Parts: sequence; C-alpha cells; structure tokens
Amino acid sequence: MKRLLILGGTGDAIELAAQVMGFPNLEIITSLAGRTRNPAVPSGDVRVGRFGGATGLSDYLREQEIDLLIDATHPFAAQISWNAAAAAIDAGIPHLILLRPSWEKVAGDQWIEVESMEVAAKVIPGLAQRVFLTIGRQQLAPFVPLVETWFLIRSIDPPDIFISNGQILLDRGPFSLEQERQLLREYQIEAIVSKNSGGDATYAKIIAARELEIPVVMVQRPAVPLGERAIDVASAVSWVTKRL
Ligand code: NAP
Repeated sequence: MKRLLILGGTGDAIELAAQVMGFPNLEIITSLAGRTRNPAVPSGDVRVGRFGGATGLSDYLREQEIDLLIDATHPFAAQISWNAAAAAIDAGIPHLILLRPSWEKVAGDQWIEVESMEVAAKVIPGLAQRVFLTIGRQQLAPFVPLVETWFLIRSIDPPDIFISNGQILLDRGPFSLEQERQLLREYQIEAIVSKNSGGDATYAKIIAARELEIPVVMVQRPAVPLGERAIDVASAVSWVTKRL
C-alpha cells in the first residue's frame, strides 16, 4: 500500500484525486489550507489547515508515512510550493509539481504584463477609471489607496479589506464567455487586473476583454522550485502509476 498526499486548493487537485481514487494499493489524502468557507470536496481523505512551514510539513509526511507528494496548489500559492519541495527532500520521497501552463498573449490581446500586484496598482491610475479586479481577495491591499478608481471585485468569499469605491461580486468559476462579456459591458469596465493563472476555468474573461478591446493588467506568476513537473492531470496520473 502506498500513501499519496495531494496539496490541493485547485480544480486540478480535485480532478487528480478523482482520477487516482480506486487505484489498487493507493491511499489518497488531499490537504486544504482552509481559506475557502465551503470548498469543493475532493475524493478520498481530506485534511484541513496549515502544517507549520516546511518543517511542519516534513513532520507530517513522516508521521503519516506518506510515500508520494503532489503539489497541485494554485500557481500563485508560492510559499506552500517551496515548503513542499524542501519537505519532500527532507523526508526523502518523490515529489511532483502539477502546474498548468500560463496563458500566452495572442493577437488582439492588450496585456500589460507586470511582476506583482503592487506594480499592477501603479499602472491603474493612468489606464482606467472602472476596473475589474479578478485576483481573489488576499492581495487587494495595493489597490486601497486608489480612491479615484471604481473597482468591481470578484472573489469566492468576502474580502477582509474594505474598498469603499467599488462593488463586491461573490462568485466561483468556471465562468462562460457570455457571462464575462455581459459583466464587462454591464459594469462599463475599462481595464481588468488578472493573475496569469492559466487553465480554462477563468480564461473567458481574457477572451471577452480581447473582443471588447479592454486592456488586461496581467500579473506574472511567482517563481516555483525546480523539480519534476506535470502540466496536466493526465501526466500527474501517469507519474503516480509509474510509482505504484
Ligand atoms: P501560500 O501563500 O503558498 O500559502 C500560505 C500558507 O498556507 C502556507 O505556508 C501553508 O501554511 C498554508 N497552505 C497553503 N496551501 C496549503 C495546503 N494545500 N494545505 C495546507 N496548508 C496550506 O498559498 P495561498 O496563496 O495563501 O493559497 C492558499 C490555498 O489556496 C492554496 O492551497 C492554494 O492552492 C489555494 N488557492 C490560492 C490561490 C491564489 O491565487 N493564491 C487561488 C486559488 C486557490 P504553513 O506554512 O503553516 O504550513
């Protein structure tokens, strides 16, 4: 019997757990940070809450006798990915990063690519007055000082930060192209701020922006550790299969 720990918090992690569920001689545990109030529940066992840094995760891997570790966290969840890489080395177990490819700019896209949310906030005043922030709820602080800008903020759970000059839209993807077109028109959005998350679930807003000739301030991904990588769930499943 082998034990697989999936670090989750993404649709890919849920899909992965569903696909390896039922493999003979494999037990699956998915770990969630516990940020989302009503998270989608993966197949198999689930644990919720922080580990306590790389050392805490390494202790957990040993105590739980984990044989395989797959980091299927969001491309912007950088800290846990560095912790996972260090903990896997420390515990001496194979480790895979499941990281979907970034979105690539295509003809018609008006992207302003920036390396951080702080830089994105600096770009906004010269660009637009009505802005759609599709960056979740954890990194809104740099936009608070922009009192001349109106923000539409979409997140799964309510943000902790209060932005008076805007509106919160609580919603969870995937979003259709028609939904996104309508939303951009209805709120007269002049620019979007987005993380370069990759994947299909939230790509419709990028297509809608292209069609409506709306600029996108695209925040680039943080660095992730080197090591074994899979770009999709199917490749991660075959990585598991080879190790059983
Ligand atoms: P982060 O900055 O990398 O993580 C901060 C801390 O949260 C980590 O150091 C770790 O705490 C704990 N943590 C993160 N993921 C965990 C997991 N799967 N299981 C147990 N503990 C975890 O990540 P984040 O940006 O706060 O994201 C938190 C979770 O939300 C991740 O699981 C991620 O996949 C998901 N998510 C993030 C985004 C995003 O844009 N950042 C978007 C969608 C989903 P300790 O060091 O104390 O162990």
